[in-house]
Amino acid sequence: MLQQTYEVTEKRPLTQLLKNIATESDYRNAKSKLLLIFEPICETSHIQQILEQCKNFLPEAHLVGMTTLGPLNAKTDAQKNTVISVLLFFESEIWIKGCDCQNKNQVELGRMFRKELDAQKDVKGLLCISSCVQLCPAPFIEEIRRNHDEIPVFGAQAGTAKLVQDQSKIFVDGIIYECGIVVVSFCGKSLELKIDYNLGWIPLGHEFKVTELDNKGFVGKFDNLLALQLYKQYLNVEPDEFFYENVCSFPLLAQSKNRKIAKVPIHYTKDGRLQFSVEFKKDMHVSLSYSKPEYLLKQTLASANAMAVFRPQGLLLFACMNRRVFMGNEKAEREFAYYRHAYENLCWSYGYGEILQTSEGGGVLNSSLVAVGFREGSSKDNSPVAPFIDREFESPPSHVPLSNRLVTFLEVTSQELRESMEKMEFLAQHDPLTGIYNRRRLDEILRYELKKRRKSCDLSVLMFDIDFFKQVNDNYGHDVGDFVLKKLSEDVSLTIRTEDVFGRWGGEEFVCILSNTPVSGANVLAERIRKRIENLNLSPVPQVTISVGVTSAIPADTAESMFIRVDKALYDAKQSGKNRVANR
Ligand code: GH3
Ligand code: MG
Ligand code: MG
Repeated sequence: MLQQTYEVTEKRPLTQLLKNIATESDYRNAKSKLLLIFEPICETSHIQQILEQCKNFLPEAHLVGMTTLGPLNAKTDAQKNTVISVLLFFESEIWIKGCDCQNKNQVELGRMFRKELDAQKDVKGLLCISSCVQLCPAPFIEEIRRNHDEIPVFGAQAGTAKLVQDQSKIFVDGIIYECGIVVVSFCGKSLELKIDYNLGWIPLGHEFKVTELDNKGFVGKFDNLLALQLYKQYLNVEPDEFFYENVCSFPLLAQSKNRKIAKVPIHYTKDGRLQFSVEFKKDMHVSLSYSKPEYLLKQTLASANAMAVFRPQGLLLFACMNRRVFMGNEKAEREFAYYRHAYENLCWSYGYGEILQTSEGGGVLNSSLVAVGFREGSSKDNSPVAPFIDREFESPPSHVPLSNRLVTFLEVTSQELRESMEKMEFLAQHDPLTGIYNRRRLDEILRYELKKRRKSCDLSVLMFDIDFFKQVNDNYGHDVGDFVLKKLSEDVSLTIRTEDVFGRWGGEEFVCILSNTPVSGANVLAERIRKRIENLNLSPVPQVTISVGVTSAIPADTAESMFIRVDKALYDAKQSGKNRVANR
């Protein structure tokens, strides 16, 4: 495979450029040809013209493209000319699909595309480009990857020159979509892809939960605090003309499987809501984050050097304008220079969001740099690849600037804060003697289980109490009593399934919450626990026994009514002779 990237300039007009491409022998010999077009001008007629000319000169090539982001402020350079990148595959095949999302549901479109995907062989990756702001392609991507977790999806949301007025477009062959998604499947036995993902933002302080959200991408509240107020309260960012530049230095971080992903608002409303071009989910946890340009650069340098070892024959970069605003032009260009070391003729673009979804997690992201390297067949060249060296990181240590010391201070204190919050949360939910859940947490879990329970699902609770435990304390002392409680908790924890919840209700009373378990199953478990404890070696105590109460949820149940009933069942077991199981 091979990639060439060209910029249309006055000196090299489009027709001239296309004519040259058509005559190149690599182009003529390629099995599959893909023209990626990155266009900073959003007018339909202008794009139409480009597409027509491409089709005239290169009729066998597939055309896929998107509008890109213009400069966000006077200091931010951005792409001014049309950029055309030609990807030539000599062994692999490509399939292209354009989806109009104006009147169709993304999930339905995704399902239809998935059927086509099932018929394609050796799919190694999917390039996904979508229009923006009104459309976040996350539901589509989720749908096409159903049963295809092995196929990575990467790409971008298109950009628009004007932030407030979305004019983003995507195009495929002759069609221009104002609200659509295009997918390119890269298929081939010998095709290999290497995907890199650069973020470099560090979480700051505690987490917030999305508590109010609408289906148009507006977040109303975080932890019941007006979304806009989050930036005002914690960072003193005012809703003024610098809002966007201010917030892009502090992206919101969320966790997706193994990946941290960043999100940045693109707009705020008078009533304090924030608009995002990327998907949020209710109850999603986010934290503010910060970074330094050097942190971002260092991470990119390491990724780009790893990419160079892959020896790509083609390289696509999808970058976020936030990074450029934050790092400045010179450092942003340096990120691309690192990757140029891996593949000189790469192409890069700035959209509204970067797309990366693999088995490791991801989604539609902001503030990242996604890099996708391609090659056909493993490299026969085994010679070592010299890494790119950035002099800035090689220079000897000097006086540390004040801002760096403040950032370090912030880093350490917020890490300490995070750890102490985690510790406090653990203490609030666990019993100090046995380490299992405490009553408060058991109560919380049962409330939650009852709330989420579907009608058809069974939910059972069992409660047990050690028989004659006072005698254990009286005969062997309180320490031995404590030891019995600990040993018994350990044993029961090992006996139950991972999805069962076990905790100490108080004193020598314990509770198990069993989701998806009918009363018959709960009785079996109760009997199993009872027998195990009867036979448990608790030396010096020869034996202890327990009495167990069991109950299952009925439609009108609350956590309180269930605990009262199971306590009564336990009382029945005690009354009828102890060391037995009773139901209510
Ligand atoms: P029954 O068979 O009716 O349950 O009788 P019992 O002796 O087990 O019940 P009772 O409620 O009379 O006594 C419970 C005992 O549990 C009394 C208390 O000292 C002991 N206990 C409660 N919490 C702890 C603890 O954390 N450690 C120790 N060692 N003992 C505890
Ligand atoms: Mg007891
Ligand atoms: Mg008791």
